[in-house]
Amino acid sequence: MTLETQTTRAKVFCIANQKGGVGKTTTAINLAAALALHRQRVLLVDLDPQGNATMGSGINKNTADINLYQVLIGEATVVQARLRSETGQYDVLPSNRELSGAEIDLVGMEHRESQLKHALDQVAEDYDFILIDCPPTLSLLTLNGLAGAHGVIIPMQCEYFALEGLSDLVNTIKRVFRNLNPSLELIGLLRVMFDTRVTLQQQVSEQLQSHFGDKVFKTMIPRNVRLAEAPSHGMPGVVYDKSSRGAKAYLQFGEELIKRVGGKGRRRAA
Ligand code: ATP
Ligand code: MG
Repeated sequence: MTLETQTTRAKVFCIANQKGGVGKTTTAINLAAALALHRQRVLLVDLDPQGNATMGSGINKNTADINLYQVLIGEATVVQARLRSETGQYDVLPSNRELSGAEIDLVGMEHRESQLKHALDQVAEDYDFILIDCPPTLSLLTLNGLAGAHGVIIPMQCEYFALEGLSDLVNTIKRVFRNLNPSLELIGLLRVMFDTRVTLQQQVSEQLQSHFGDKVFKTMIPRNVRLAEAPSHGMPGVVYDKSSRGAKAYLQFGEELIKRVGGKGRRRAA
């Protein structure tokens, strides 16, 4: 066969930071919805047993009988487990507390770090972007995320210890790059919950830019209460109140990401 078939395979990005409560899930949900609004086909993988990305997408984590746990241990496929977020217009690979058992079940398995990668390979042509919402750990689950991704997006608050925590994560990314996944790259750092009135945040933001240069996304996500309210309505913030400052920032971030990594101009009907 000489004719090359024109298929697109999804770009797979982890939203990761081992620090808790820094805005990973908020970023994952709102980026998924923002990309969908920019006409991209998106799968959001909830790699956290807390199941917040699932719930925040309007899916009840406790009624999703087939979920990421069964997929990781090889008892189900992504096609069987994925559900549609009607509020966000993207697909979700849901999770709940059952997923914490996967850590133990995976330990005895061969290629235990590559289970997610193998599962996602099956649906790579169905999407333009696959986003993985990582838990606040550098665990075997997170390793599965990093081993299966092309890139990492790091949401971070511009606080005093932020840079210190960042070096642990950057070192982990380098180790995964060397040992498990030579195509892994740092896509960028996203400043979240940003308050321009706080001098310390501005200083840390400047430090970040001088250390990481272009790797710092231009878009900054402000602290905005509408983003925090949205999950209790099972909606991404960009849908819940699209005129809010937080929503506008995430929409702009979606656009910046597409420009940076090259999304697809889809032919799909809206
Ligand atoms: P975990 O490490 O537990 O998974 P996380 O990194 O996923 O946490 P989130 O759950 O996204 O963090 O956010 C932590 C809290 O901060 C949540 O209550 C969320 O609603 C709130 N939050 C996140 N981003 C913003 C923002 N830009 N403005 C206001 N509140 C925000
Ligand atoms: Mg989270």
